[in-house]
Amino acid sequence: MSWKTLDDMELAGKTVLLRVDINVPVENGEVTDATRIERIAPTVQNIIDQGGKPVLLAHFGRPKGEVKPELSLKQLVPTLKTYLGTEIVFGEDCTGPAAEQAIANASEGAVVLLENTRFKPGEEKNDADLVAALAALGDVFCNDAFSAAHRAHATTTGLAHALPSCAGRLMQAELQALEGALATPVRPVLAVVGGAKVSTKLELLGNLVAKVDKLVIGGGMANTFLAAKGVDVGKSLCEHDMAPTAVEILGKADAAGCEIILPSDVVVAREFKEGADNETVAAEACPADAMILDAGPEAVKTVNAAIDASKTLIWNGPLGAFEIAPFDTATNAAARHAAEASASGKLVSVAGGGDTVAALNKAGAADEFTYISTAGGAFLEWMEGKELPGVAALTS
Ligand code: AMP
Repeated sequence: MSWKTLDDMELAGKTVLLRVDINVPVENGEVTDATRIERIAPTVQNIIDQGGKPVLLAHFGRPKGEVKPELSLKQLVPTLKTYLGTEIVFGEDCTGPAAEQAIANASEGAVVLLENTRFKPGEEKNDADLVAALAALGDVFCNDAFSAAHRAHATTTGLAHALPSCAGRLMQAELQALEGALATPVRPVLAVVGGAKVSTKLELLGNLVAKVDKLVIGGGMANTFLAAKGVDVGKSLCEHDMAPTAVEILGKADAAGCEIILPSDVVVAREFKEGADNETVAAEACPADAMILDAGPEAVKTVNAAIDASKTLIWNGPLGAFEIAPFDTATNAAARHAAEASASGKLVSVAGGGDTVAALNKAGAADEFTYISTAGGAFLEWMEGKELPGVAALTS
């Protein structure tokens, strides 16, 4: 851990430019899920407690460098006020006189929110002039937006180089959880990777087999591995052209001493719909006119035993078509098992990326996992072993 935290900074009387991810879903003007706003509250409070003035910098939607009134951050002011419990002073621009005025108007204990940084064409280009204009507004930069850390933007890497900088509490928790799971884990380490396609998770699989002790491959991508081993998977979702890649990953795992666990039995159906007639068969016995939609009970037993034998678990992706019952059975059962092991202190479990959070929520398992990352792309890039520019900038 070579990045600074709020504990390392002197903030009394300082204006703190705080990069946050408050890109929350809004329907008909109402915030439908305020999780991201709730999660920045400890950082904001910490800055205020240390005598600093928090100035929120954030993007909202994809305005692509243009001012789009429907993507103004102003609409989030009431929700921010509720969850942060302070006065919110809004600046109609994220640089220049409007921003300066908003910062000057904010009294002690208030939070400043500046307009959508992606209204500026320089944000996504990490433009030096924009970085300078932003840096002129504050004394310290604090990055609490792990989910934007895989992008080298003005408000992620640019400001980190321009001002004394540190990680916020959410970024700190995320980095500590991810470092604990992959960089310095308590072994044995198990990874569960499910989801639709091998092609979207190649780099993830390639990195994990070199680092973990066991890897469970589930979901549609398990079909690609079964097919690569010569199994007929009928009408299952399967990337037949990825067979050589699957064989390569199996070889890499073998060389690294990583045990690959594929489903030994599967649940098959003739229709991809809720409640479709289904049967459980051996993984090698998928009928030619059927498709594999979930892992079977024997496979779940194997996954659960692997969880019991592990001290650290990394989870990404569902074990089956979890959106449609009963093909959520394996995902639910294994997720609950991991949740129980985590709750009893036997397992450190870290999950994230894509549909994973939805799948674990649906299984009623999310609360007991040790850490659930709300970052999609950044979580996956970290697990792929890539350096995230927003994190690297905090360490240099
Ligand atoms: P991903 O975004 O790659 O994590 O993939 C998640 C998607 O994979 C979900 O929408 C699941 O319904 C889908 N999925 C998982 N297993 C299967 C399967 N056996 N057949 C078809 N789709 C699947």
